[in-house]
Amino acid sequence: MNREVTCELCPRQCVIPEGGAGDCRIRVNLDGKLRATTYGRPSSVHIDPVEKKPLYHFLPASLAFSIGTAGCNLHCLNCQNWQLSQRDGSEMERIYPLDPPELVAAARRNECRSLAYTYSDPVVFYEYTHDSAAAAHEAGLRNLLITAGYINERPLRALCRVLDASNTDLKAFDDGFYRRVTTATLRPVLDSLVTLREEGVWLEVTNLVIPTLNDDLAMIRAMAKWIRDALGPDTPLHFSRFYPMYRMRNLPPTPADTLDRARQEALDAGLHYVYVGNVPGHPGANTYCPRDGTLLIARTGFVVTGYYLTPEGRCPKCNDPIPGVWQ
Ligand SMILES: [Zn+2]
Repeated sequence: MNREVTCELCPRQCVIPEGGAGDCRIRVNLDGKLRATTYGRPSSVHIDPVEKKPLYHFLPASLAFSIGTAGCNLHCLNCQNWQLSQRDGSEMERIYPLDPPELVAAARRNECRSLAYTYSDPVVFYEYTHDSAAAAHEAGLRNLLITAGYINERPLRALCRVLDASNTDLKAFDDGFYRRVTTATLRPVLDSLVTLREEGVWLEVTNLVIPTLNDDLAMIRAMAKWIRDALGPDTPLHFSRFYPMYRMRNLPPTPADTLDRARQEALDAGLHYVYVGNVPGHPGANTYCPRDGTLLIARTGFVVTGYYLTPEGRCPKCNDPIPGVWQ
């Protein structure tokens, strides 16, 4: 009898023999059934400001109860959480047993307004994310998916019913980069971004700019235009600074100029909200009105230091609505 199972969750579509695991290490074939070994067993648990996700247009200055388990379906050379993502559950020093109701209770106890599924990639702990998100909604909490977006359309659409916001990485606008640096491919990520937008999930996009690998301004312009046309000009785009990590220690941190130029390129392409991240004190961390340049939200690091939107989420000067989920 053939006891192989095919995991239909992500574009890898791993065929897993009995007793074996998929590419992500944590989705396994146990007695002919597909299981995620990290269900209810996060290894990273933190209370973070939502700005750290980063989400800048979603419940500013609120706290997100943030969890991640071992395993990932990408293998980025520059992973900043590789000790979590590039291991299976059995290798983890710490595991916090938290089933979905316990997770929701912990979030409420800590005055968090949302749960964030993050750190490695929640795609691989999909069932845990889904069940926790459903329980969170029942308790009046929101759900944030922080992901690389490497997931098949059908499971993503099903998950969207219990999601409120996502920050999805768009790691480069170049399939060759995806293959070389992440072992994934570009197309499914673009499809996921469109799906999240279609399903009405509040969406922000992060692009980590790595010197020499994906800092080409023509590529950044093409990416910004794609976001404008496929996701809309109000989609916040975060250019994030790279620091040498994991298997990519041979490159320097991204120069601030490079991030400034990327930001300008994206603004020139017609995006309304373009941010610079991981550069403390950079004015590109603030939100400005696209019509008149009024400062709307000031940020330093992950801290909101000034908030000037009207209670309805409008610019106090021109009264234009600023897209986002403000309360
Ligand atoms: Zn204005």
